Formats: sequence, C-alpha cells, structure tokens
Amino acid sequence: MAAVIGDPVRHSLSPAIMNAAFAAAGLDCVFVALEVAAGQGVEAVRAMRSLHLMGLSVTTPHKADVAAAVDSVTPGASALGGVNCVWWEGDRLVGDSTDGDGCCDALEADDVPLAGARVAVLGAGPAARSIVAALDRRGVSEIVIVNRTVERAAKAAALAPRSARIGLAEEISQVDLVINATSVGMGVSGGIAVDPRFIRSGQVVLDIVYHPLLTPFLAAASERGARTLDGIGMLVGQAAIAFSHWTRMEAPILVMRAAALAGLPAR
Ligand code: NAP
Repeated sequence: MAAVIGDPVRHSLSPAIMNAAFAAAGLDCVFVALEVAAGQGVEAVRAMRSLHLMGLSVTTPHKADVAAAVDSVTPGASALGGVNCVWWEGDRLVGDSTDGDGCCDALEADDVPLAGARVAVLGAGPAARSIVAALDRRGVSEIVIVNRTVERAAKAAALAPRSARIGLAEEISQVDLVINATSVGMGVSGGIAVDPRFIRSGQVVLDIVYHPLLTPFLAAASERGARTLDGIGMLVGQAAIAFSHWTRMEAPILVMRAAALAGLPAR
C-alpha cells in the first residue's frame, strides 16, 4: 500500500493515477488518500515505518515536517525545505521534492528542449521554486522570475544563482518558454497572472494549473499563436517519478495521463 497525505486531500487525483499505473503494471498494490491534520506529518512517517507502506506522497501542509522525519533528503529537497515523495532505500526512508523534475520530464517528453532555453517562470511559491531549481539542473540558459511579491521572487532566484534573476512581466516576450506557476487561473474565479499581450507566436506556454485544464492564460496564449501545454503533464510527471522510486519499474505514463484526465470532471 502507498498513500498520499495532506489536508485537504479528498479531491486528489493521485489515487486515480497511481491505481491505474499499478493495475497496468500488473502489481498487487493499492494507493489511498489519507487526510492527516496539520502537525501530524511526523506521526504519519512513523506510521509508514510500522505499517511498512511502500511509498508516501506528501502535500500541503506536511512537506517540511515529513522532510524532518525521514532518514535522509536529497540535496534538491533540502534546498527547497520540503519533500513530496518518500520511498525506501533498504531500511531507510528517503525524501525528495519531485514537482520540478516532473515538470521538466513532461516538457522534454513533449519535445520542448530545455538545455540552453530561455524561460520565464511566473510565481515564486513552492511549485515555482521546485521548477526553477529543476530547470537550472536541466541546463536552461536563463530563468526570468516574475512574481507579485519581489522578496519571494528573490528567494526563488537564490535557488538557481547560475541562471535565475528577477524580471518584469514585459520580459516574457523575450523567452522561449513561459511557465505559469502561480495559482492564478485556478477554479471558477479564473484570472491571468500577466498581461497575455506579452506572449508571442513561436513560444511554448505551460500552465501548471490543471483545474480547469484550459485556463484563461492558456486560452489567451493560444489565441496569440503560442504552443500551449496543460498542467496534467507535470502532475503525471511527478507521479511517474514516485512510481519508479516505489516499484523500481518504468511508469506507464500514457495510462497515468488517461486516468488523470478521466478523474478531472469528478473533482
Ligand atoms: P502557492 O504557494 O499558493 O503560490 C502562489 C503563487 O501565486 C505566488 O507566487 C503568488 O504570488 C502567486 N499569486 C497568487 N495570487 C496571485 C494574484 N492574484 N496575482 C498575482 N500572483 C498571485 O501555490 P503553489 O503550491 O506554489 O502552487 C501554485 C499553483 O500550481 C497552484 O494552483 C497548484 O494547484 C498548482 N500546482 C500544480 C501542480 C501540477 O502538478 N500541475 C503541482 C503543484 C502545484 P505572491 O508571492 O506575490 O503571493
């Protein structure tokens, strides 16, 4: 058994994605969502040890607590201050932050080259920071971080001193790839984080918000001739990394994406 812990977690797509992957791989495994109250993350890791759970996905508000409770964390997760994935290495629990690598894996699988690319990241929350760090590891040439609160943008830029700097919204017209990693556009309230007039044809625009799948930002970018990608790729990308850590098998990505899309309307 593997599980995702969080609060709230009831609407997570992870059980649909992971159970489809386990079934496709012919594994006798099950994945469940467990609502764990704030402050109980350390207890949940203790339970993982005693119950011998094969793996744990971790979401808000437990990422930092779980990072402190496992036996080791990767350098990347240590810099970010939290983990979203826990697995066993022998009798030790290891934690990593896989959102950024999941995003980069999805981009590369969609034939978006990252090495040498100029990228704008909108936002500086946990998701944006994870993406900035991963983009730097993949060898992008420049990351322009555009965020409402400059202090948070500076913290994000500090994760990738080689390539990242704080920038202005109008600078996004100069890059190859634009990633919305703010929460703007989520749910029915909609909204767009930056003026889409700065988007031009020939660019790739990814919105990591996946509810709705077609955000107002993606719709506007598509109208301006950009190639658009939705947030399901990143969601499946990080789930695929977790699947491989837990099972030591290659993840059935297409099955996982189909399960995520099928699960979306039910949320
Ligand atoms: P978060 O901590 O809430 O980050 C919020 C970010 O959005 C901050 O940079 C914030 O700017 C900005 N923001 C919020 N409201 C804004 C507004 N009205 N105008 C301009 N900027 C605004 O969230 P997160 O955990 O980083 O996640 C961000 C989004 O990504 C969420 O919608 C989440 O669901 C989604 N996500 C998707 C995946 C995936 O797999 N596809 C994975 C993780 C997260 P300030 O710093 O100025 O407040």
